Amino acid sequence: MSTSKSQTLVDKYLKFQETCVSPFHTVQTVKNSLIQQGFTELSLDSKWNLDIGEKYFIRHRDKKTILAFYLGEQNLETTGFKIIAAHTDSPTLKMKLNPWKQNKDLSLICPQTHGSLIYRTWLDQPLKVAGMVYKIKKHQGKVLFDSLSSLPKLDSQLVASDHAVGIIPELAIHLDRNKNTSGPINPETQMDILCSTSHSQENFIKSFWSSLGQNDDVDGFDLTFSPHFKHQVVGLDQSLIIGPRHDDLAMSFVGLEALLKASKNNKNKNTFVLGLLDAEETGSQTASGAGSAFFRDCLLNISLNHPRSLKEKSPPDPVNIFSNSYLISADMAHAFHPSHQSKHDTNHRPMLNQGLVVKENTNDRYATTGETHSMFKALCQEASVPLQNYVNRQDMGCGSTIGPILASQLGCNTVDVGLAMLGMHSSMETMGCKDLDYAAKVFEVFYRGSRLN
Ligand SMILES: [Zn+2]
Repeated sequence: MSTSKSQTLVDKYLKFQETCVSPFHTVQTVKNSLIQQGFTELSLDSKWNLDIGEKYFIRHRDKKTILAFYLGEQNLETTGFKIIAAHTDSPTLKMKLNPWKQNKDLSLICPQTHGSLIYRTWLDQPLKVAGMVYKIKKHQGKVLFDSLSSLPKLDSQLVASDHAVGIIPELAIHLDRNKNTSGPINPETQMDILCSTSHSQENFIKSFWSSLGQNDDVDGFDLTFSPHFKHQVVGLDQSLIIGPRHDDLAMSFVGLEALLKASKNNKNKNTFVLGLLDAEETGSQTASGAGSAFFRDCLLNISLNHPRSLKEKSPPDPVNIFSNSYLISADMAHAFHPSHQSKHDTNHRPMLNQGLVVKENTNDRYATTGETHSMFKALCQEASVPLQNYVNRQDMGCGSTIGPILASQLGCNTVDVGLAMLGMHSSMETMGCKDLDYAAKVFEVFYRGSRLN
């Protein structure tokens, strides 16, 4: 560990991870931090009264995506937005609509896979369940309708079990001597979650809902499973953090830290934004993902309701606003793996604890250009933070992220960056402690537009 300052940041990150067990919980945790620091919540269906030097946030109606910003005095047509974007979802197991299964006297839940998780890493892990549950509002047995929208009314509730509710058991090697060489795991037939040795399905379902503080009158749910595991700092030099969901909660966390710090100064001239978006792992084409209109609509609303625009009584031109904006798309990067050295181009091997990684791909799987790379390099120099490069091998495929999707939605200059990590999409991922500090510094310099004191 480098300094006591980065120790504090690591401790904060471990705490952040503890509460962020689903995208709903991440948005709730971020919301709580923002409110604590004086941010005001805005809603898309009511009028915005914005003040320069103040800070605000908007949650998507699905509560899995959040956008927060500080409003500077500068004309947005001239200066654009400074944006950092990351994602709130991670590869996980989601409960199917009718998940209950009984096999002999064993009670199981059958899940579906969200994103491309590494199946075998989910076996033999204690799993907790978390997310949102919904109930249809009724009066004397009749469905209640909203007087304005004339849609049925629902109650939603954020829930999480405080203990592991099940496990996906491995098969003993004695029962399959080819275990270490046999083929892939079938997620349909080999990943049911063993939850109880009760022979009564009715009791099983009751006890499942009671672990979430519910009766069995839940009408709908978005529930995911995650390893019931406290993140740990490991290594003889205590330089690594192991745990679930670094992808992409590490970048969400440092983005939030930078926003909170930079927005303490109400004399900032520029408007800066943090967007934490759902559904990156499934391609971002959802109501609140990077491919939706939500992000763009929020930014346009900010510019339309900026006190300058209201005073000048002419709506600002979105083309100017976005072409003058700069977006940092922040998502994790593949670190050099000591046992799989050939997986990296020898000139592009990001190392743990050696700084931010800029990611580039000529087929636009990443949005980085020569110009946006140079701009980011300058920010790193200003923050005295090292910068590394990642380009995939030409004989291998390349991942992608929200960078190209947001760049094409907004038409703004975008760079794709991240922190080096091992085991991306494993149930347990490993990253470097020092890197959190590096990223927080660069992001703060970006928002403030000046050197840190
Ligand atoms: Zn990611």
